[in-house]
Amino acid sequence: MEVTKKSKAVALGKPATGQCLCGKVQFEIDVPARWAWHDHSPSSRRAHGAAYATYVGSWRKRFRITKGQTGITRFEDKATKTVRSFCARCGTPLTYERARSPHMVNIPRALFSGRTGRQPLYHIAIEELQEWAYTGEPLVPLKGFPGVVWQRSKKKRRSAEQDLFGLDRADI
Ligand SMILES: [Zn+2]
Repeated sequence: MEVTKKSKAVALGKPATGQCLCGKVQFEIDVPARWAWHDHSPSSRRAHGAAYATYVGSWRKRFRITKGQTGITRFEDKATKTVRSFCARCGTPLTYERARSPHMVNIPRALFSGRTGRQPLYHIAIEELQEWAYTGEPLVPLKGFPGVVWQRSKKKRRSAEQDLFGLDRADI
């Protein structure tokens, strides 16, 4: 199965805008962004509750909170000299700032609705890539479960139902 990637055209001259899950916090950056990368470090993995985080780095002076400034809370990690901010209402991670890059603000790529002018070509802490992370393996439809695709096991030929160990339709 071929997965089609979603992309939206970048509006020339217009800032790239984004928001948290609940919409209370909104922001924008001037495009193109400085850079973009995938962060596989344990701290970002936990902060996002995801296999890894993909960030867009912006110069601080080109980043603006346009709505909900008072709804932002911060977590300072003194051990790593980093500060992460979140929407206090819905918990969406908003910014990741590192003491060693004082002029940069890093924003989760997923929060932007359109293009940012940078492809995430770089990886940090790739040695931390989790064995359960999806890395683009071919997927096929799961029989009997509309909307679900899966990576067919290479080890043994067995039915999807057996592979799921009695997974009920209600679980998906
Ligand atoms: Zn929110």
